[in-house]
Amino acid sequence: MTQSTNKSGGPMSRGYLVAGNWKMNGSSASNAALVEGLLRGIAECPAIDVLVCPPALYLDAVRRHIGAAPIAVGGQNLSDEREPGAYTGELHASMLNDVGCSHVLVGHSERRTLYGENDACVARKFVVAQAGGLIPVLCIGETLAEREADQTEIVLKRQLDAVIAAAGIGAFINAVVAYEPVWAIGTGRTASVEQAQAAHAFIRGVLAANDAKIANSVRLLYGGSVKADNAASLFSCEDVDGGLIGGASLKAPEFLAICASAQILAASLDA
Ligand code: PEP
Repeated sequence: MTQSTNKSGGPMSRGYLVAGNWKMNGSSASNAALVEGLLRGIAECPAIDVLVCPPALYLDAVRRHIGAAPIAVGGQNLSDEREPGAYTGELHASMLNDVGCSHVLVGHSERRTLYGENDACVARKFVVAQAGGLIPVLCIGETLAEREADQTEIVLKRQLDAVIAAAGIGAFINAVVAYEPVWAIGTGRTASVEQAQAAHAFIRGVLAANDAKIANSVRLLYGGSVKADNAASLFSCEDVDGGLIGGASLKAPEFLAICASAQILAASLDA
């Protein structure tokens, strides 16, 4: 993946990344149609990085279909076991790597709330992802109750600190962080530009307290009901380096329109 655009304004440049989380959706036929649609438009977005995360069963087919086009493929989840072995139903990081994944989502709120993944489990997954040659996309975010109780920063810091303690701040050189307020995921309710920027600046600050240079280089994605009509304003925030897109990543025109918003901003930063 390229990092051609200097979002940070400093020597360690961050480029935009737009990632699609297909969740548990699709079929061989619908995935093929979706990839065809993406392939038709991706050449219009040369200044950004694009990633899609299909269900695990389809990773290999999607990767092959994409071929040499500039769309990276990532997993949505992985085992927290360090070594492959007798873990029925699980996927080791090396297997994702083997079928051409470059990234993997770690700690998505649906994994945390529906499958009981706690901070320690998420931290283990982050570590084994990197050990297996993958770039973890660490998802963090507060629930509505936590936001209303003024706990947002406490939750974000706790979720980040668990990973920093397990992996070390140096590990963030090869990681992406996605801020996904749980109340905005799949609800149609998006964080305001001010809320997104404040949370992203806070996250970068927590990383900077450990290493300012690394903090400045980490790509921070916003996720939560991003659509073609709100992407540009969210992505123009100083500390927002792209998006993690759920529902709107399932339709090629909508996802490409979101990518185009990042492309326009990236091209203006390059100019
Ligand atoms: C997500 O699942 O990561 C997500 C952000 O979903 P949506 O865009 O549908 O809110």
